[in-house]
This record gives sequence, C-alpha cells and structure tokens, in this order.
Amino acid sequence: MSAVRSISVLGATGSVGQSTLDLIGREADRYEVLALTAGSDVAGLAAAAIRHRARYAVIADGDRYADLRSALAGTGVEAAAGPTALIEAGALGADWTMAAIVGCAGLAPTLAAIREGRTVALANKEALVSAGDVMMAATQESGTNLLPVDSEHNAIFQCLASGGIDAVRRITLTASGGPFRTLSREAMAQVTPAQAVKHPNWSMGRKISVDSATMMNKGLELIEAWHLFPVGLERFSVLIHPQSIIHSMVEFRDRSTIAQLGCPDMRVPIASALAWPARMETPCEPLDLARIGRLDFEEPDEVRFPALRLAREAIEAGGSAPGILNAANEVAVAAFLEGRIRFLDIGRIVEDVLARTDIMPVRGIEDVWAIDRSARHLAERLAAELIT
Ligand code: NAD
Ligand code: MG
Repeated sequence: MSAVRSISVLGATGSVGQSTLDLIGREADRYEVLALTAGSDVAGLAAAAIRHRARYAVIADGDRYADLRSALAGTGVEAAAGPTALIEAGALGADWTMAAIVGCAGLAPTLAAIREGRTVALANKEALVSAGDVMMAATQESGTNLLPVDSEHNAIFQCLASGGIDAVRRITLTASGGPFRTLSREAMAQVTPAQAVKHPNWSMGRKISVDSATMMNKGLELIEAWHLFPVGLERFSVLIHPQSIIHSMVEFRDRSTIAQLGCPDMRVPIASALAWPARMETPCEPLDLARIGRLDFEEPDEVRFPALRLAREAIEAGGSAPGILNAANEVAVAAFLEGRIRFLDIGRIVEDVLARTDIMPVRGIEDVWAIDRSARHLAERLAAELIT
C-alpha cells in the first residue's frame, strides 16, 4: 500500500470541492486532510472539516471567525480566518492541493500552494487567466506538478500522454453550448439568472454556470489552455458538442486524433488528477454509448456568443488584457446574478472595459492585482450606469 497522502482543498464547500471530498472520503484511510477553506459558508466548512478530520478549517471572510470557532469547538479542528490565513492554508505544503476557489479570489492561496513545489490540481481557471505568466513561471521554478482539473484541460492532458506536445497539430476544446445554445440574441435579452444557472449537462457553481451560458467559460478555458499547453493560439479550436461526452481532443501531426470521453461528472477529471499518474476507482456512471446513441457537433456562433471572440482578442492583445477580461466578467456576472444588469450586458461590460483600458505589460503579481482592481472598478461603474 502507498503511504498516506496529505491533502488540502481550497474552496472545499463548492461544487468541485465537494466532489473532491466525496472521492477522498471513500478511501479516507489513504488521505490525511490538512486544510479545508471556504469563502463565507461557516456551517458547510465546519461540517466538511469535522467529517474529514481536517487539521485546519479556514474561512476567508474574517468577520466569520467567531462563528467558525464556535462551530468547531471541541472537535480538534483548528479554526482560522481572513486573507492571510487563506494564503497560509495554501502554503502548508500538502502533497496534493485542490485549487477550487471561484474567481481571482483563489489566486493568492493557489500561488502559495504552487510555490510549495508539490502537486496542485487546478480547477480555479480565473487565477490562471489573470496571472497566467506569473503562475506558469512559479510552477516551473518550484517544480510543481500542475494538474488541470477543468474537464477539457484534463482531457487534453490525458490525450497528450499518447503523443507529446511537440507533435500536436491541433487541440479542440469541446463546449456544450450551455443552456442558451439555440436561443436568438433577442431571446437571450430576456433570460433570468435562474434560467442561466440551469446547465443542461453539468451541475456546477453559479458563477461558472453563468459563464457557460454566455460561453465566457469557453473563452476563459481557451486562455487557460493557451497557458497550460503552449502550442500557439492558431492551433486551438472550439467545437460545440451538446452531449458533453467528448471532453476535448488532440490531433497529432500524423492526423491521429485522440479524444477523452466520459459521462459529465467532475469526479472523473478530479479522480484523474488525484490518482495521477495511476488510476483509481470512482463511483461515476460508466460510459454507455449505445444508450447515448449519437454525438453531435457544430461550429460555435461568435455573433450570438461574443465571449469567445473577446477571449481570443485578449490573448492576441496579451499583457493585461486577459486579466481585464476576467475581472470585468467577474463583476458583470455578479451584477447579473444580483439582478442589477441583464444577461447581454455581461458581454457588453467586458467588451467596454477592454476597449476603455490601456493594455499594459504584466511584470509580476503586483501588476496582476493593480490590473484586477482597476478593471473591477471600471466594470462596477459601467454596471451601475446600466441600471435603469
Ligand atoms: P462554487 O461556487 O460551487 O464554489 C466556490 C468555492 O470557493 C466555495 O468553497 C466558496 O466558499 C469559495 N469561495 C468563494 N468566494 C471566495 C472568496 N472570496 N475567498 C475564498 N473562497 C471563496 O464553484 P465551483 O463550481 O466549485 O467552481 C470552482 C472553480 O472551479 C471555478 O474556478 C470554476 O470555474 C472551476 N470549475 C468548476 C467546474 C464545476 O463543475 N463546478 C468545472 C470546471 C472548472
Ligand atoms: Mg470546463
């Protein structure tokens, strides 16, 4: 038997965090849980920390410290709170850390985990979009195994095992098209947050569900893939595949195409990252292609879904552009979920913030924070102006 592995889960109360803990809990004797973190959900964090006998439970919201302490009193789990504690949770040097905080809020603790030089399973795509160069350089420097968990990137990672990145001709990111795949722009103008968060195939957090509906999720994933698999932007394409069975594909120079398939359950890519380079059992549904019957494909429509174009333009512009795009999108999605702006305003705000901001080089993490702050500020102002 292999030795017990220490594990931390950043964003433990979320959709990816809970799926990760589900897998870990099935073989609890193989893992020692160091830190679990959450944004503000004290009850969810305390329950997870007690169930998985975590050493530390960290709540990002400093005002919730007393609540967390009392929820954990007598359990042996140590409570901590606030942004510094969150970074310390990332820096505990766990053998394996799941980075599953949503948004740029996950960047500092994820970077702290990367700097420890162990294995980091990356779900938190916004961190990589905002600070791609900084994060990839830190990964190189520390020798961290950065394992992609986003299903498409995990698929590409698995496909690359059969040929290697130097032999890649084309990487195809598949996309479900989201809940509004067949809707006109006129119809999209009317959609509500409740409709937007209802994804046809995947059960996910609210922010990424809205991103799937605007297809900004695929835009963020294109930027993510561009950093993780440096084959050049021209070698990437996006293909709509409504059944979400093929999670992505790699075509090699001999014209062999390798795809990774599976039912849409995040526990499959999470398990792949958890057991890597081995394979583990999961409780996930096996793939039954006869029952699924058919797999469909179509070209993405960048007129109805401008987010894909914006992401490609941000990569081409380089420097601060991807960080601006991400920050503006985070603000706009939050405003939409709070009912302050309408669905199509999300793309408008992102495009506007990009157009009104000078693109600057990103020389280090301080630049990343400054770019993020100013883009958020402008996006908030634009969102406020849109309120009718
Ligand atoms: P979620 O909203 O379900 O969970 C987010 C987690 O982050 C929670 O634990 C929450 O408490 C924590 N959090 C939120 N704000 C925080 C803050 N300010 N500071 C610290 N912690 C905070 O989100 P999710 O769907 O699990 O997604 C997590 C990440 O994984 C996202 O980047 C998403 O794009 C990516 N991802 C998710 C899926 C999926 O199926 N859910 C698939 C691929 C990638
Ligand atoms: Mg994905």
